[in-house]
Amino acid sequence: MGLLIRGGRVVDPVQGLDGRADILVEDGLIRQIQPELAVERGTVVVDAAGLVVVPGLVDMHTHLREPGQEAKETVATATRAAAKGGYTAVVGMPNTVPVVDTPGQVELVRARAAREGVVRVYQVGAITKGSRGEELAEMADLAAAGVVAFSDDGRPVPSAAVMRRAMEYALMFDMPIISHCEEPSLAEGGVMHEGFYSLKLGLKGIPALAEDLMVHREILLAENTGCRVHIAHLSTKGAVELVRQAKARGVPVTAEATPHHFTLTDAALEGYDTNFKVNPPLRTGEDVAAVIRGLADGTIDAIATDHAPHTEAEKAMEFDYAPFGMVGLETALPLAITRLVNPGVISWTRLVELMAINPCRILGLPGGSLQVGQPADITLINPDLKRTVDRDRLASLGRNTPFHGWSLQGWAVATMVGGQFVYQEEGV
Ligand SMILES: [Zn+2]
Repeated sequence: MGLLIRGGRVVDPVQGLDGRADILVEDGLIRQIQPELAVERGTVVVDAAGLVVVPGLVDMHTHLREPGQEAKETVATATRAAAKGGYTAVVGMPNTVPVVDTPGQVELVRARAAREGVVRVYQVGAITKGSRGEELAEMADLAAAGVVAFSDDGRPVPSAAVMRRAMEYALMFDMPIISHCEEPSLAEGGVMHEGFYSLKLGLKGIPALAEDLMVHREILLAENTGCRVHIAHLSTKGAVELVRQAKARGVPVTAEATPHHFTLTDAALEGYDTNFKVNPPLRTGEDVAAVIRGLADGTIDAIATDHAPHTEAEKAMEFDYAPFGMVGLETALPLAITRLVNPGVISWTRLVELMAINPCRILGLPGGSLQVGQPADITLINPDLKRTVDRDRLASLGRNTPFHGWSLQGWAVATMVGGQFVYQEEGV
């Protein structure tokens, strides 16, 4: 039995589409896509009039917290949060307990995702054993086990020699290295951005220089080895400029930015609310402006959540001791629409590039388009819907959102994975 998504504004840059179209889904696949399709007997019709229909969103930076930190989040709850946020796939980072640095750990996450996940789950493997930055993980085995990239996310790889060797290996498997860029001696002990507010609040700062230096090192290493390097959660004006220049001279570098880094500044730390404590830290208004420019002009390739759930007890600790991170899967899309699309900073087409096409392209994943024959991974967005973020109504186990009480416009109202709705609001 077929399902017809009728009358929506279909935005699919891969096919050059931005206009009214009907999409016929059958056997989990996209069967037809035309300006107008006849309704066959027995076909279920989903009225998408007034909605924007896009390829399923892909989050290339999610902390699923499994294995080992199920009090913070599980594959089941994270993927439900993802579905609610309009995502049809998430990419799990390996800094779990234990670290995903063996094929066995990759298999464990895959089994859990197959059993409990409601969206597609891909996994990043660690660069070094235990992500300790010393000895390379068995990268060949991890690649064979199906990881989509390598990263020691959560921390930098301090040794340039280790990183260079990792890149040489990753190049052999044609896989990118995702780098959490932080020069450790400069960042050490910091809990927020170093600047006016860290002085005012008496908190130890992490200078922008810590990020800029490491981004520069990774760019030079990528240039030297030919390995593709993806910069995670870019947050400084200097780093944006470094990536811009590197791309201009043909270095194989890509980058992502998070919704909080294009929305919030370090001024939000006044009040010492630990929900604003994140790594890399919230930066200055100038940095935010640079990140937004980078998203608009193509310097930054992707919007990624860095979804990092923590328990209430952990976030209730004193500012210096509370863990870094905030949840993001359920607010990323409405923030991107409210802060970037609605003010005209980026188009819907660019939004789809940033949140679906480019994550797939960078990691070599299927998806990112609504082409006939592809799995029906589709997100339906109501661009007019205004809703207030309520931390107590999140599908994630994490309550640590800095956006509680924010009114945002433009929300996912239905999410389909392989032809099945995994999230669907009433009336859709
Ligand atoms: Zn990170």
